[in-house]
Amino acid sequence: MKPQAFAYERAESVDQAVAALVEHGDEAKVLAGGQSLLPMMNFRLARPEVLIDIGGISDLRGWSLSQDTVTIRSLTRHCDIQNSDVPGPLGALLRYAAGLVGHLPIRIRGTFGGSLAHSDPSSEWCMMATLLDARMHVMGPSGARVIDARDFFLTVFTPAIEFDEVLTHIELPALGSNYRVNLKEFARRAGDFAIVAVMSAIEVRDNVITDARLCAGGVSDRALRLVQAEAALIGQAPTPETFAQAASLASQEVDPNGDLHGSKEFRQDLVKALTKRSLAGSLT
Ligand SMILES: Cc1cc2nc3c(=O)[nH]c(=O)nc-3n(C[C@H](O)[C@H](O)[C@H](O)COP(=O)(O)OP(=O)(O)OC[C@H]3O[C@@H](n4cnc5c(N)ncnc54)[C@H](O)[C@@H]3O)c2cc1C
Repeated sequence: MKPQAFAYERAESVDQAVAALVEHGDEAKVLAGGQSLLPMMNFRLARPEVLIDIGGISDLRGWSLSQDTVTIRSLTRHCDIQNSDVPGPLGALLRYAAGLVGHLPIRIRGTFGGSLAHSDPSSEWCMMATLLDARMHVMGPSGARVIDARDFFLTVFTPAIEFDEVLTHIELPALGSNYRVNLKEFARRAGDFAIVAVMSAIEVRDNVITDARLCAGGVSDRALRLVQAEAALIGQAPTPETFAQAASLASQEVDPNGDLHGSKEFRQDLVKALTKRSLAGSLT
C-alpha cells in the first residue's frame, strides 16, 4: 500500500524540530531513519499529516564517554554502533546487539533513538535501556527533561515522549571490567525480531555475583526486568546450578501472551533456556 498524503519538513536543529512539532500539533511525526515509521505509514497504521525530518541534525549523531557514563545521541545509526569502539563490556554488548537488529539496509538507516521512541517490546535497544536503567533526554517547548527507562516505555509503541518533544540522547552506565554481558535470542529467521530474547549483565567479584541484571523481550508489552531471577543471583557463585535456578525463576515470573509465533508456555520455556544460556556465556 501507499501512505496517506503528507507534508514534509526538514529541521536543521532540535529547536527547529520542536517548533515545527508545536506548530503542527499531534498531526506531525518526527522522521529519523524511517525504518519503522515508513512501513507503518505504508500499512496506514500511522497517518501523520506532516513529517518533520530530523535526519540532517548532525549534533544528534555519535557517542561519547565521560567518567562512568556512555552517551549515545539519538540519530546514531545501528551500523555506527555495530562498528563503534565503545570500550569494555558495554561496548561488546552494544556491538553484538546492533548486529542482531534487522538486516544491513535497516541498520544503515535505522537509529538508536528511533528504535527507543518506537518502543517495540522486542527491540534490542529497548531491552538494553531497561536492563541498564538508561536515562533518556528529551527536548520540548519547555526545555529539556530526563526520563528514566523504567518510566519511558508505557506500553507497545508508546514511549513517554510528548508529541512536541524530541529524544536527543541516552545515557548508559559504562560497565566496569568485572561485568559479564550477553544476549541470547530466538527468531525463526536471521534478521527477524526475536520471538523471545534475554539480555544479561552480571558483575562478579571474587567469584561472587555482586550485581545482576536480566531483561527479557517478547514476553510483555515492554521489555521486562526479571527481578526475582536477579535477586536469586546476588551473593551466589556464578555456577551452572546458580544459573539454572535463576533461569527457572525467570520463566515463572513472566506471563506472556501466546500468539501465532508461539504459545505462552513456549515463550516461558524460551525465557528459561535463553536466561541460562545468556548467564553461562559472556561476550567479553
Ligand atoms: C524488516 C525489519 C526488521 C527489523 N528488525 C528489527 C530488529 O530485529 N530489532 C529492532 O530493534 N528493530 C528492528 N527493526 C526496526 C528498526 O530497528 C528501526 O530502525 C527502528 O525501530 C526505528 O528507528 P528509525 O530511526 O528508523 O525511526 P523512525 O522509523 O524514523 O521512527 C520510529 C518512531 O519513532 C519516532 N521517533 C524517531 N526518532 C525520534 C526522536 N529522536 N524523538 C522523538 N521521536 C522519534 C518517530 O516519530 C516514529 O514514531 C526492523 C525493521 C524492519 C523494517
